[in-house]
Amino acid sequence: MFQDIGKHIYDNHFTPRPPQPEDILFICSGQRVMFKDAGGRIELPQFGDAADMWNIDFDRLIYLFTIDDIAMFLLDQDAEEKSGYTYHGFMEIRGRQPGWLTFAAATASHLAHWYRFNRFCGKCGAEFGQSDIERALVCEKCGNTIYPTISPVVITAVTNGDRILLTQYNPEHSPYKNYALIAGFAEIGEALEDTVRREVMEEVGLSVTNIHYYKSQPWPYSYSLLSGFFADVKGGSEVTLEEDELSKAVWFTRDAIPQGPDGRSSLTWDMIEAFRNHEFK
Ligand SMILES: [Zn+2]
Repeated sequence: MFQDIGKHIYDNHFTPRPPQPEDILFICSGQRVMFKDAGGRIELPQFGDAADMWNIDFDRLIYLFTIDDIAMFLLDQDAEEKSGYTYHGFMEIRGRQPGWLTFAAATASHLAHWYRFNRFCGKCGAEFGQSDIERALVCEKCGNTIYPTISPVVITAVTNGDRILLTQYNPEHSPYKNYALIAGFAEIGEALEDTVRREVMEEVGLSVTNIHYYKSQPWPYSYSLLSGFFADVKGGSEVTLEEDELSKAVWFTRDAIPQGPDGRSSLTWDMIEAFRNHEFK
């Protein structure tokens, strides 16, 4: 899946260090990300080349994490497009090569979003500072401490014997055109299994039973952590569609399941392939 980056090692221990020449600079402007577009591959600026290009203020660098021995730093200052590095929409990171750098850039985007929307203390209004000991923002005035926000989402593969329920979004709700599974954010006060039952009932009007956890996936594109579940339909299998969100929900037998858009990189399509290949259920 998206987060499986082969031999590369993602390390998000909070161990800030000064930038080295080979370290990577992550530059954002709003929801746009600066990278060089090399025919499907992304290139991000390395500190050694970039330090002079953008006249970097070291006080505006935020340590994010390392991949192997390369650290990523968020540059929290305005920077203009230069030397082939241009701003792109956040979603344009998706599906590019190399996979490890795509994962790193998407993860950095999630952190950048959190920093950008938490400049001031929500309790007293003073400016937040960075904690020295952990990934947190601390208000020096009132002591309020906040941690990165991750929204939990469940994805549910509803099955009925040899059939699986695939959905398509209403285009007004989501631009994603391929088949998907039922998904939704967990509400406060819910266990994930409750979210599964509620979302399936809300979106397709079905009751489910035999709910089993499958796998999880960090999904920075919606600032989320996805948890995948399989569940059997209980009672009738006739769908009542929530039309604001979905345009279609169709039962497919294993041999009729269509091909996905990009292999098994998303948890959704990893689950669909797992069902097709009898790996789960
Ligand atoms: Zn405060």
